[in-house]
Formats: sequence, structure tokens, C-alpha cells
Amino acid sequence: MSMLRLAVVSVLVSSTAISFVFYKQLFGGALPFVAAIILLIIITDIFLANSLAKKIVEPIGKADLDGVLSAPYDELAPLVKTIETHRKQIAKQLDILRERNDTIHAIMENMSEGIIMLDKKGVVISANKSAAAFFELPANVNGKNILEVFRELEFSVLAQGAIDGHRAELGMKQGDKTFRVFFGPIAGVGAIILFMDVTEKSRSEMLRREFSANVSHELKTPLTTIYGNAEMLAGGMVNDEDKTSFYDKIKNEAERMIALTEDIILLSSLDEKSRAELSDNVDLAAIAAESIRALENKALKNSVSVKLVAEETEITANRTQMYELLLNLIDNAIKYNKPGGKVDVCIYRKKGRIRIKVSDTGIGIPKEDQGRVFERFYRVDRSRSKHTGGTGLGLAIVKHIVLAQGGSIGMKSKAGEGTEIKVVF
Ligand code: ADP
Repeated sequence: MSMLRLAVVSVLVSSTAISFVFYKQLFGGALPFVAAIILLIIITDIFLANSLAKKIVEPIGKADLDGVLSAPYDELAPLVKTIETHRKQIAKQLDILRERNDTIHAIMENMSEGIIMLDKKGVVISANKSAAAFFELPANVNGKNILEVFRELEFSVLAQGAIDGHRAELGMKQGDKTFRVFFGPIAGVGAIILFMDVTEKSRSEMLRREFSANVSHELKTPLTTIYGNAEMLAGGMVNDEDKTSFYDKIKNEAERMIALTEDIILLSSLDEKSRAELSDNVDLAAIAAESIRALENKALKNSVSVKLVAEETEITANRTQMYELLLNLIDNAIKYNKPGGKVDVCIYRKKGRIRIKVSDTGIGIPKEDQGRVFERFYRVDRSRSKHTGGTGLGLAIVKHIVLAQGGSIGMKSKAGEGTEIKVVF
């Protein structure tokens, strides 16, 4: 604006100077008078130029750039139009950027994986909610160097590597959780670190490994016995009177293998389905009676009496699974009983829920083992379980079925006195 003012003044001054030279020649004697007039004209010119420039510039200075622009005089209309168009474009671009930013922010905050972004100096630019929760990060983590946040040497080396353009992966433990951490470069920004909670995955991998090792072991023992006995029989090394006991051993071990294989198949089919199919309308009393009938011989052999008391027992559940559940519980109550002992099976409804209670007067379970008997292949007395044809999978199957049906299971037991297992649906 001052440039405009200067230009007007300089035009007026130069035209006045030219006039001065011309008039000096023409009117020599009247020079002082003329000079005074010229001076007056110059002052008037300056004043006029000033007020003209002000008139031109003032409306521009006062223009409300945040509101709708209107041209104060026609000459400014094209300029105002251009400014207005640019302003609309900028506002539109800003809206798009804001929307994108909100979307990225919402995605980051709602991800179950933890994310931390670093700038080129390794300073945290942002950390999402999951990352903050996993590692209990302070609220002011943004602006801190990653080396202050994670002090493990390997972590900081890989973070720096990502800033330098190298991708990497790392396994990490935090409390009882296990994480897989991915480091990746972001061109022009720095690096991104992604934390995936793999606790459940690594736990089930460990269980699977343990399970495979146990299954191999459990199958190897009867197979070795079968092979040894068959070899002796085939080699003619067994007297005729001993042969029957060899055949019996082979038969018993083969039965154990069949039972084990059936339990493994049942467990893996339960593992595959996260929820049981609730297709049947099941009468638990009828199923309990059926299970007791199937175990009649065993109860007789062990001199154990079984009693069933059942009231309201209709439930929507998977029939086969309910049969497996009751069969396993009653089977255990007979197997781990004492001669002349008792088993009581009660099925009743209380507070709107169906309850199954199987209690026995058997050998009981020591306190220290009570929490573990539901684990696969866990047995309190390994030799007794094997002697009675146990696979070590019965209670694991029962627990799996109960959880799949949305129920709960509890146990009360005293070594030497008996056990009570209660299932609530
Ligand atoms: P198993 O096939 O060996 O019976 P389970 O999974 O059914 O396997 O049971 C695991 C272990 O829990 C058994 O080996 C046994 O030691 C103990 N157990 C289960 N039920 C009873 C019970 N009613 N009384 C005493 N011990 C029991």
C-alpha cells in the first residue's frame, strides 16, 4: 500500500519539477510568488495523493476475510472473485484433510493392536489406546523418545533400524501377556511399531504341543504291551495255561487304546466347535438313567450302588454331549469309589437353573490336585486310573462340554471321604 502512495507522490513531484523549470524562464521576476504557488500545489498534491491512496486502500484493509467478500469498487471485483474462489478451494481441501485425519484417528484408536508412530529422531508422534493399555504408557508419551519408553536394547536397535528403513519382527513379554512386535519404516515420517497380542495363540500352541506329546506317550504304552505279549505268543514262549492271561492283557490294552482314541476324537471335535449345537430338547433324567444302565456292570463289579433322583429336567442342549457328560461323571464316581460305596445322581431346578450333582463316598481328591483334575491327561493316581481303564481325559471332556453349553462346574472333595461335582446350566 505504501508503494502505491509513493508512486502517486513521485508522479506529482516530477510533473511539478518540470513545470518549475518552464515557468522560471517565462516569469523570472514573479519567481518567488510562483515558487510559493508551486509549493502550495505540491503540499496539496501530497495531501490529495495521501487521501486518494487511503480511499483506495482502506476498504481492502477493512475487508472481513472470514466472511463473504464483496468488492468495494468495480476495479477490485476481479481480484475479490479470485480470492473468493481460492478461499473456497482451501476450505474444501481443509475439510477433506480433516475428514481423513479423523478417519485415521478413529481406525487407530479402535484397533485391538497397539500402534506407536515415531519421527525420524525416534520421538513418539502418536500412540493409540491399545498400545497405552498394553504397556501402561503415561498420558504424555507423545514427544518422548522411544528409548525412554522401551528400555530393552533389542527393541531400541530394531526401532532405530526401522527409522533407517529396515523392517523387523520381535517376540516380547509384558506381564502375563505375549506380544509379536513389527517394526516398519514410513518414508518421510520415521517409523511405525505394531504390537499384536498373541497370548492366547501361543498358549494354545503350547497346549497343542503338550497334548500331542501326551497322546503319543499314552498310545505308546499300550502298544508296547500289546507288541511284547503278541511277540511272546508268536514265538511260542508262553505255556498253554498262561496264554489266556496274555490274550486278556492284549484285549485290555486294545480296549484302552480304543477308549483313548474315542476320547481324543471327541475332544478335538469339541475344540473345533466354539459353541455346542443347542439343537435337541433333552430330558436329562432319561439320559442319566441310560448312563447308569451302561455302567451297571461296572458298579456291580465294584460293589457300588447308584441312586438317581431327578425332578424337572428338560433342557435345550446337545444330546450326545449331555450323555458324555453324565457318563463320565458317574463312571468316575463308580471307579474311584470303595467297595460297598454309594453314588448319588441328583438333577433338579433351583433359581431357574438346572443343576446336576454327582456325589460319591469314594477315595476323594486331595486338595492340591483338585484344581488340576480338569486338565487333559492329569490323574491323581496314575496307576489306579490306568487299572480302571481311565484315559485321563474324562473330566477335561466334561468341563469342555459344560463351558460350550454356557454352564459352570464346581467340585467339593475330601481325600478318603468322597467327592461331589456340581454342574449348573
Ligand atoms: P480318568 O480317565 O483317569 O478317570 P478323568 O479326567 O475323568 O480321568 O479324571 C482325572 C483324575 O481325577 C482321575 O484320574 C482321578 O484321579 C481323579 N478323579 C476324577 N473323579 C474322581 C472322583 N469322583 N473321585 C476321586 N477321584 C476322582
